[in-house]
Amino acid sequence: MINVIYRPKKRLFIALASICTLLTSLFCYALWRITMPGLTQLNDYLPAIFGGMVILVVLGMCAGVLGIVLAILGFPTFRIFHFWAWHVINFIFPLAIFLGKMIDIPRNKIEQSFIEVNNHLVRKQKIKVPANRIMILTPHCIQLDTCTFKITRNIENCHQCGGCCVGKLLELAHKYGIHLAVATGGTLARQVVKSVKPKTIVAVACERDLTSGIQDVFPLPVLGVLNERPNGPCFNTFVDINKVEEAIKTFLEDEGANAN
Ligand code: SF4
Repeated sequence: MINVIYRPKKRLFIALASICTLLTSLFCYALWRITMPGLTQLNDYLPAIFGGMVILVVLGMCAGVLGIVLAILGFPTFRIFHFWAWHVINFIFPLAIFLGKMIDIPRNKIEQSFIEVNNHLVRKQKIKVPANRIMILTPHCIQLDTCTFKITRNIENCHQCGGCCVGKLLELAHKYGIHLAVATGGTLARQVVKSVKPKTIVAVACERDLTSGIQDVFPLPVLGVLNERPNGPCFNTFVDINKVEEAIKTFLEDEGANAN
């Protein structure tokens, strides 16, 4: 099976998020208009109070989407703005997926675009942490199916034979002194994050796992690197080691001192 790599575009998610914001605003306005007579009968102030809440929700969503757009266009934005933008993204994401489904845009393309937006926003924050607070997190399907070494409990069990990408990832982990974990599922991944307590994560996974993982660990900054699946999903997957290393360097404090 040939896996065609699609070049994700940030603008797809931005466009869907903007349309969702517009539709939500229209929906809120229509709701306010429809409920106004009933609310007035209950209390004269209720339409104004409800209207005020509607305006706050709409302004909040617009500010979030605008924040993302400005950050992507290269305008300086405050960290708090990123934080707010993220809440809006998490709220809008299911709506964007639903809208995409209605207009026949494949879910994985929206997820790829979302990951691009996430990576861009994370890079913009210029977060630098010590090497031992960075963790590479990757799914178990990256290990060669026929490999007999148990690496999920102890990654050092990998013999770095070159049969799969785990060996190369371990090499990177040793080179920079960072954590590397291979998780068999979302629950184990969450447990690893809880016990290692990294400050930043370089996550390797498919679109769906990356998207949910990024949202799960928020506000922890995650740079997502999509895996390659020439053998189909969840089986003997690969990752571009250069992309992983580039993501590590993005977070690495005093990069020159750590790499050799
Ligand atoms: S690099 Fe070799 S030893 Fe390590 S997990 Fe892959 S196949 Fe197993």
